[in-house]
Amino acid sequence: MSVRGTVLVVGVGGLGTPCARSLADAGVEGLVLVDPDVVDVSNLPRQVLFEPGDVGRPKAEVAAARLAGPGRRVRAEVARFDASNAAGLLADVDVVVDATDGAASKDAVHGLSVAAGRPVVHAAALGSEGRVLDVAPGGRPCLACLFGLLATGDDADTCARFGVFPGVVRAAGELAAAAALARLARPDAPTSGLRVLDLGAGRAVTLSVTADPACPVCGPGVARPAFAVRDAARREPASAVPPAGALDLRDEACPMNLLRARRAVAALAPGATLEVWLGEEGAATVPSGLASLGHAVVASAPRGDALVLAVRRGPGLASPGAGSGPGSIDAGSPGAGSPAGDGDAWLRRFARQIVLPGVGEDGQRRWGETHATVAGTGDAADACAETLARGGFASVRRVARDGDADVVVGTRGPVAARFALARAGAGPLARARGALLADAAMRAAIGLPATTDVVVRDDGTVGRA
Ligand SMILES: [Zn+2]
Repeated sequence: MSVRGTVLVVGVGGLGTPCARSLADAGVEGLVLVDPDVVDVSNLPRQVLFEPGDVGRPKAEVAAARLAGPGRRVRAEVARFDASNAAGLLADVDVVVDATDGAASKDAVHGLSVAAGRPVVHAAALGSEGRVLDVAPGGRPCLACLFGLLATGDDADTCARFGVFPGVVRAAGELAAAAALARLARPDAPTSGLRVLDLGAGRAVTLSVTADPACPVCGPGVARPAFAVRDAARREPASAVPPAGALDLRDEACPMNLLRARRAVAALAPGATLEVWLGEEGAATVPSGLASLGHAVVASAPRGDALVLAVRRGPGLASPGAGSGPGSIDAGSPGAGSPAGDGDAWLRRFARQIVLPGVGEDGQRRWGETHATVAGTGDAADACAETLARGGFASVRRVARDGDADVVVGTRGPVAARFALARAGAGPLARARGALLADAAMRAAIGLPATTDVVVRDDGTVGRA
């Protein structure tokens, strides 16, 4: 079975990998995958198209190779989507999926796609929350009708600060795939609304949305959005090079830029200063992240493509050698078992913990001691089992059984929790249901409240059972 049309997936990470794979499975004949980054070890718990052997290779190229198949065109673009390449990338696509992470990227994908008349499906996930909004060609309403231009707000939340649970990011990616398929079938349909999953609170709701007459993106008589100009300006040739002794994070990815900056500043003598060079992603999070740790950003200035900071070491918040509490690690004290001089290896290993506040090292260890049994066959059971295995469970046993999926979670010994799906189905909506089942299991395994009252309906909306 083949689905006519081409989908542009911008961002090939925790949202984009399950989305692109479900689009391929559904038979979409054309995929364009855009991402500037390479696969990092810390991506593997959530990004379903990548394996340990892919670390260091461009995400877009690895994903395109995995999804290639007879009768399907899959193109990889190892680039950041911005005003300089948008026209070429948007030219032959029917739907855009915004699976990016970070406010500036979301503004750019959204504004340029709406301006080009392409329908957009936005997916976002942070912490315990997932959101999906589908936007008709030309908007009205669009993402900016609801939230304004994201990068102009003062919260620059990305996974560097909060991380995301594997189940909810998978569910949001699958819901985005379902929305993109619906959009291919009915290009001009009105939006299905803003789907909000808040699994920390056991809440799910689909909000109806209306156009803002003064929307900065889709409102009448709108001038070209400011971010397009800014993106173009950032493309000026830059010959600036960090001096010896400066920390160069221009090409570092989330969450490593903040982790590395924290460690480098914590290694200074108290009161000493370090020069840190940041790329766009680091510039959005590192200054505030360092400040929240008690360090002082004493100077900050753009230089070429980079933002250059002078950071003076403050007292910090964690005492050296104190080890890590839930949800945080003291990047200045690697702790026992971390040999000196192993570069960033230990940081990359611990990045799995630091991106999950409320889970932390203890929670991660508990996942590593937890065994699950997933009963059932089909897409929901498969997605549930895959999410648990990637998320770090010690073992995931499959039991073939027709019909719905359910999952039994336990350590060795008594069953700790049991969850069941009332209804599974097939395709991306079924995978979203399976991912939410996995989320409940992962929460229960570390003593967090878990619910299976959240339902994914057949029209792609979400709500309470
Ligand atoms: Zn709008």
